[in-house]
Amino acid sequence: METLTVPALAAKIPTETAAYRYLERLRWHGRPVCPHCGVIDGHYLLKPRNGGRTTSTGKISKRRLWKCHACRKQFSVLVGTIFHGSKIPVRTWLFVLMEMTANKNGIAAREVQRKYGLTAKSAWFLTQRIREAMVERRPDALVGTIIADEAYIGGKSRLIHGRLMDDQKPETHIPHKTPVVALLNRDTGEVRTRVVPSVTAANLAATIRDEVAVAESNLWTDEHQGYKAIGRTFGRGHSAVMHSMGEYVRGEVSTNALENFFGQLKRSIDGTHRQPGALGAVLRRIRVPVLHPQNVRHGPHGPAR
Ligand SMILES: [Zn+2]
Repeated sequence: METLTVPALAAKIPTETAAYRYLERLRWHGRPVCPHCGVIDGHYLLKPRNGGRTTSTGKISKRRLWKCHACRKQFSVLVGTIFHGSKIPVRTWLFVLMEMTANKNGIAAREVQRKYGLTAKSAWFLTQRIREAMVERRPDALVGTIIADEAYIGGKSRLIHGRLMDDQKPETHIPHKTPVVALLNRDTGEVRTRVVPSVTAANLAATIRDEVAVAESNLWTDEHQGYKAIGRTFGRGHSAVMHSMGEYVRGEVSTNALENFFGQLKRSIDGTHRQPGALGAVLRRIRVPVLHPQNVRHGPHGPAR
């Protein structure tokens, strides 16, 4: 493999458009694949081919955007990659990625901020997401569309769902309930659960990072603020459903499958008094069916549009 240096990479990708072309060559080998429907070839580039394209908001975009001839959806080479959904130029991503892989000790967010003229927040995000992508994940990590939800279990055989108790901060007011985080792989139906000391952003992030191949997955959750930071590190994005707004389903994004899971769990431990240790064993045994769009239960306002 050739060793890239900063000047060599700069020559290879002198412009943002060139950076897109570079990634397209690496990923598609000249035959673009629609990430929405999987159709190969026949897609067309939205003009102009080079330089800027005026977006609906009047801005000039350097993104190379394709339109699928089969499903008519738009896509770029970034969909499904760690670069997706970021406003940072792809060119910057590639330079930082190269530096982080070339230096044994990596490169600090502060240095990236200074060198590439980013905000502290962007620099942190960039280095964090690249680091996530470089981590060797455990072989059984969940990959795909991951639905995360949390619940409080135990006490007098009752289950109180987190969001019902949101305004009461259940983790501080009802310590006899055991907070549980559950992760469902929507693609396979596999559920992983973990008892956490409390439902905090740090505990949610640690659980998710341990169980999920974050860089290659996308995350669905409710609007719990604790998912925001970890959600940003998901390579394929984070979608939140606003339960508090009466929005139960947004498009195909839903946490209903996990709510059903917790409902099933409640029934399974009804009438028994289990300790948290035993709880984990129960939790691991329960599987929920794969969530298909036709099985999605819609909220009181019908499907979201
Ligand atoms: Zn398509």
